[in-house]
This record gives sequence, structure tokens and C-alpha cells, in this order.
Amino acid sequence: MKRNIKTAALIAAVFLALPAFENQNGINIVNAGSDNNTREYSPQTPLPSDNKSEVPVSKSETAPVPETIPIHSHNFQYMTIQEASETQDAVILLRCSCGITNGTITEPGSALNIFIEDIIRDIANAPENGTVTAETKIWICYNKAVMDALLQRPDVTLVTNYRYNNVDYTVTIPAGYEADTLLDENGYCGFRYLDKVFGGSEVTA
Ligand SMILES: [Zn+2]
Repeated sequence: MKRNIKTAALIAAVFLALPAFENQNGINIVNAGSDNNTREYSPQTPLPSDNKSEVPVSKSETAPVPETIPIHSHNFQYMTIQEASETQDAVILLRCSCGITNGTITEPGSALNIFIEDIIRDIANAPENGTVTAETKIWICYNKAVMDALLQRPDVTLVTNYRYNNVDYTVTIPAGYEADTLLDENGYCGFRYLDKVFGGSEVTA
């Protein structure tokens, strides 16, 4: 029992000050620890702290910043890369904050909305008893919003110059007309229908 206690003391010494112990006493630590319960403390066994010390602290501090973006779930946001015009729908890009894009989509109907918004603005801003002329070679109908604008301005005359099957036409909605009655069941007002109601005419150059 005494020897075991002594061995334990030696082991403690090995951990605390192994180099000093060896220098001062000249004892082979492996022999001193030959008992079964001390074998695992052989100085040849790397101490846990040795593993940590193998990686200098300064190494991690100066490690280069990874150039690749960390893996993440892309979160694609809508980004308008071309505003809608009267002749073209808006083009929208799906883009993640990391810069990855996922193609483009067009916004259906946005071009028609531009055309209609222009007409509505012109009607609203028309001078008293004025005439608004809409010019389009693409669109062939109005919607309820345009008819509502006319109802708000019963003094305004709306002339529509449009193209249908490669033929240019003109048709006029007279001032004060009950414009909402011109809408079909889907809320649209086709120019060819206006032609039937108001007697439009071809435009010859
Ligand atoms: Zn991403």
C-alpha cells in the first residue's frame, strides 16, 4: 500500500514538473510506474494538453477568410430589372442575397397596366370638356378602371386610335356616356365592340 501511495505521488510529480523530476532524481519514470494502475500514465502517452498546443493560437487568427459563400438555403427575392412599358411586360429577376440568380420571369399584364394607367391619368388631368386621344398598336381593350375614370369626368371625350388585324381604326366614346355599360361580363371593353356601338372607322393614310 505504501508503494502505491508513493507511485501516486510520483505520477503527480510527472504531471506537474516532469523535466525537473527527471533531472533531479535520475529515475526512470516508466520503471517507477510499472504497476498495473500506473501504466496508462506513461510519459510516452501524449497529454491532452499536448494536442491543443499543436495548433498555435496565431494560426487560427491569421487563417485566410474562406472565399466561398457558406452553404445556405437560397432565398430568392423578386427584383425588377426592367420596368413595364406600354409595349413590354416587366421583367423580374429572382435573386438571392448571395448573388445567385434563378432566372427571370415576366409579369403578365404589366404592360397593359402601363397603357391603362396612362389613359386614366390623361383623363383625370384633361382640361374641362377636353378630348383625350389614346394611341396604341398593341392593345385592343380597356378595363373597368378606364370606364370609371370616364364616369368621374363626364365632360371628357375619349378617342381611341388602335390597330386590329393590321388595320388602323379610330373610335370615339363621347363625353357623358354611361361608360360602365360598355364593359363585358369580364370587366373589359373591347375596341371592336366600341366600333359597333359608336360607329368607328378605318384610318387610311
Ligand atoms: Zn443564396
